[in-house]
Amino acid sequence: MTPTSAETGAPSAEKNCFRVTLSSIPFFSQAKTFEKIWPDLRAGVDEIFADGKFSHSRQVGRLEEALADYTGARHVIGVNSGTDALVLLLKACGLRPGDRVLVPAYSFVATATSVVLAGGQPVFADIDPDTYAMDPGRIGDAADGARFVMPVHLFCRMADMAALTALAADRGLTLVEDSAEGIGMRQHGVHAGLHGRGGVLSFFPSKTLGALGDAGAVLTDDPDLAERVAALRHHGRTGRTLAHFPGISNETRYVGHNSKMDDLQAAVLLAKLTVLDEDVRHRAALARRYDEGLRGTPGITRLPAVTGAPDEVFYVYLIETERRDALAAHLQERGIGTETYYPRPLHLHPCFTGLGHRPGDFPVAEAAAGRALALPLYADLTEAEVDRVCATVRAFHTGRVPA
Ligand SMILES: *Cc1c(COP(=O)(O)O)cnc(C)c1O
Repeated sequence: MTPTSAETGAPSAEKNCFRVTLSSIPFFSQAKTFEKIWPDLRAGVDEIFADGKFSHSRQVGRLEEALADYTGARHVIGVNSGTDALVLLLKACGLRPGDRVLVPAYSFVATATSVVLAGGQPVFADIDPDTYAMDPGRIGDAADGARFVMPVHLFCRMADMAALTALAADRGLTLVEDSAEGIGMRQHGVHAGLHGRGGVLSFFPSKTLGALGDAGAVLTDDPDLAERVAALRHHGRTGRTLAHFPGISNETRYVGHNSKMDDLQAAVLLAKLTVLDEDVRHRAALARRYDEGLRGTPGITRLPAVTGAPDEVFYVYLIETERRDALAAHLQERGIGTETYYPRPLHLHPCFTGLGHRPGDFPVAEAAAGRALALPLYADLTEAEVDRVCATVRAFHTGRVPA
């Protein structure tokens, strides 16, 4: 006999009949995408079972090759998160204990914690209000005594890599990129992460290419660096080719990590790569729709520039408004999810108190942290849903109740 919904605890139509009829628009959902790629994903999982190894099976090597194709990187090394990708990249680039690494004051906290985890010390620089990325014009003295510079590409724009490459050359800094959000982003035809010695990708579920859990990768054109990262992800062991894992050597050359990418996640990502371009185009179309729907709304102090370029990548659609928290609450009450990216600039996190910063040190980063709000943007979202979000955001700012 089929159990009733009361027995299983599943939501039933009767229970929900008193609820508001408008369905909610979550900040993020990928149920439809997973439905679409399910056969491919299932085939990948079957292959893992057929191989019977459950680690070092074929999925990771295949994904690395596919990502090398997608990004143009000579080497891609799959690891277990974007954060570990940053730690391993910095270590493999020869970061020594105490080395100073220039990072922007506004980013996800892993940009700066990864520096500390690798043994270095983050040195913050303020951002460009248009790109949210490290502003070469605002670095000033912070570059003195630094050994690395690590710009971050946030939301839908890359940092000015020509200017940062010139700065790195001028000041003798090693340039690496926190390109965790950057899949598909290119500047002057070069993919994010490949402008300096190397970069990373994060496949955290909410990212443009998201897994079903944590995963990440290091991108580089440098074969020696790639080999060190490949060793560091696997206890420091060497003697294997990069893409596959035939025969693991017993030689442990470095004190490494256990940061290997999970084969199940690689299978998920291989399946999702087949729809990535389609997803990216859909996200860009939704960003244009937001732009049309929100432009000119009083009280919104910033909308992202939508260029309409064929390769435009929107990971996050972020607006700025002076009444950010009230708007987020207003949308939440109407079933629309939002996120604050990033509510606290890096220099004001308690874990960095020891660096001695105070409010006012990086005014552009602090202003962005107080005003930025990300609206729903993902492959499953429809234009009608974007229209409803726009109407609700406009009604909030103009004081009119949405229909
Ligand atoms: C997501 C992200 C990371 C960390 O990636 P994880 O895979 O979550 O460890 C680092 N930097 C930036 C800018 C990110 O957006």
